[in-house]
Amino acid sequence: MQITRRAGLSLAAAAFGIAALPRLVAAQDVGQGFRYPVEDGDVVFHPVDHASMVIETPGGVIYVDPVGGAKAYANLPEPALILITHEHGDHFDLPTLEALPSVRLITNPAVHDKLPAAMKERASAMANGDISEAIGIQIEAIPAHNTTEDRMQYHPVGRDNGYVLNVGGKRFYIAGDTEPTPEMRALTDIDVAFLPMNLPYTMTVQQAAEAVAAFAPAVVFPYHHRGSDIQEFAQLVLDGGSGAEVVIADWYPDDAA
Ligand code: ZN
Ligand code: ZN
Repeated sequence: MQITRRAGLSLAAAAFGIAALPRLVAAQDVGQGFRYPVEDGDVVFHPVDHASMVIETPGGVIYVDPVGGAKAYANLPEPALILITHEHGDHFDLPTLEALPSVRLITNPAVHDKLPAAMKERASAMANGDISEAIGIQIEAIPAHNTTEDRMQYHPVGRDNGYVLNVGGKRFYIAGDTEPTPEMRALTDIDVAFLPMNLPYTMTVQQAAEAVAAFAPAVVFPYHHRGSDIQEFAQLVLDGGSGAEVVIADWYPDDAA
């Protein structure tokens, strides 16, 4: 099978001896995203910036934690659903939500409380552990929180969400801002995981690699990683022996090279 990759992915594969990615095919042209086949079509991931991504699914397009204004989404397909993990400004930005199409919103309860009345009418809250359905996708709210004593103030227990999206027989995990929680470690059959790694807000690359060893996703994207050594993360995952493939995407297109 011929696989084409973005430059960053090729570099990652070359640097860390990662074999061909048999299931995740990165599109050739920048902006076309990372394509993953599911029943009835494809899921395509478009990294936007830091923690923000757009996910095309057969049932519609999902925006996750959109921030940065509508202009950041001008060249991307319109959403059918918006998911918010938590209230921090790099994940939840009211002006951006107001500038985007008025589609269904799913948020954690704390963000739901902060929405203006008009937006609340199209929003629903999911608490940790809840399971819901939207645009033909079963969505699980996974607890997202710190676990290290001196970081608990950033993401306390019980407030924030990660999400598992069950799409066409595959399971996609967007962790949100978290350290490895018992629920994360216990996840099963994850096809693609997005894990944050930056201090002091989330976790170290060592913690992230340990989490990968614990729940063994087939593919893992570092995201929300500004300031972290993601090449070290890739090496630690390789050394960990889980077989997870690391995909290094460009999450910071506006940063100077
Ligand atoms: Zn946060
Ligand atoms: Zn964050």
